[in-house]
Amino acid sequence: MTQFPNIRVDGFLLDVRHWKTVEQFADHVRAYDPQQTLPFSRTAIGVVYHHTYRPLPEQWIGARSVESIARFYRRRWGWGAGPHLFIVHGSPDPNHDGIWQMTPLNERGIHAGSCNERHYGLEVVGDYDREPWPEPVERLAIGTGAVLLDWLSAPIDRQTVKGHRDCGSDKTCPGRAIDMDNVRQLLQSRLNRKNSVEAYTVDSPIMYGTAPGMSIEPYVAYLSRRSTAYDAESVRAICAAYRDTCGRVGVDWFLALAQVVHETAGLSSWWSRRPRRNPAGIGVTGETRQSRPKDGTWQYDDRFRIWRRGNAFAEWFNTTERTSAIEAHVGRLLAYALTDADTEHRVDLPEGIRIMRSEQRRLIAEALQVRPLPEEYRGVAPTIGGLSTRWAPGATYADRVVAIANEIGRLT
Ligand SMILES: [Zn+2]
Repeated sequence: MTQFPNIRVDGFLLDVRHWKTVEQFADHVRAYDPQQTLPFSRTAIGVVYHHTYRPLPEQWIGARSVESIARFYRRRWGWGAGPHLFIVHGSPDPNHDGIWQMTPLNERGIHAGSCNERHYGLEVVGDYDREPWPEPVERLAIGTGAVLLDWLSAPIDRQTVKGHRDCGSDKTCPGRAIDMDNVRQLLQSRLNRKNSVEAYTVDSPIMYGTAPGMSIEPYVAYLSRRSTAYDAESVRAICAAYRDTCGRVGVDWFLALAQVVHETAGLSSWWSRRPRRNPAGIGVTGETRQSRPKDGTWQYDDRFRIWRRGNAFAEWFNTTERTSAIEAHVGRLLAYALTDADTEHRVDLPEGIRIMRSEQRRLIAEALQVRPLPEEYRGVAPTIGGLSTRWAPGATYADRVVAIANEIGRLT
């Protein structure tokens, strides 16, 4: 943390501080007990997100930007305080990126009319009327909000997490492109991850687990280096499609991708190459034939002029009606994790997290159409450990998947 005690604006609650990362900000906040930090943090219940519209990140010059905005608020509107934090990524000097404090966290701010009384003001620097937060901005904005909400022991809901426009303002702030339901979902995922065991184990759940708040970048980097069949652009598209497909049905995509890495030797195996695109040994039994078999699903290996049993997919993710590789994989994982009865139950997930039961049932049906699953395997893998000896032979199958997830996520 860097402090700027010499920056003062008469009549304005200004205490300029700078943290470069969410982790540094979290260390700062955790050093205080909200109940002992008078007066505002005892009454605060949540956060309000804003965008600055102007300045843009490329206009941001650090402490001097905070000072000039404070002077503007004081002179133009007579305010004695402002928003608490400014969140910026993309300033001309990268040393100016991060989290900037304007009004101290123990003081009531001025930023959102009726919400001032009970909410912290978080200004995301930039104009988000046209495009949503780029990923680095999202990571900072969600991370910062999650630190404050966690510190306040606040739940994530419509009362605790608001956009400025939800506070009776006719502005579009925090930007037309910012969906506050999505923001709440990202915050919840981030807090779930923080509050769960950091590293995966064979007892980690396949469903509703820790991954939604994590970034695909570690997988993109790992697979781009490793794959002999797919370039970086394809790898990125595949990873993003895993995250999105799993996200809709509640499967832990970080584990699903670890399984891909394990099954395909990092998208290099013969089965994973185009035109087969088999991501996880689906239907692969090791059987071979010299001539084309009359029934079953077989692929021709022209290197050895031999037929191999197993499934192939016309595409990784959906552009047509046909079941894609990722749908078949994720649907199969769902079938291992859930029984049909499970897909009828309501699950009590935090507000803001929406799992589509109908989408779960659709993916299971499609995946089992591609390759049937014995009835006794339905619901045997609520945790990843349940896949050992069942998805593939080997009592340590899940251990290897878990080790890959932890290695790529640097969780251990
Ligand atoms: Zn605003």
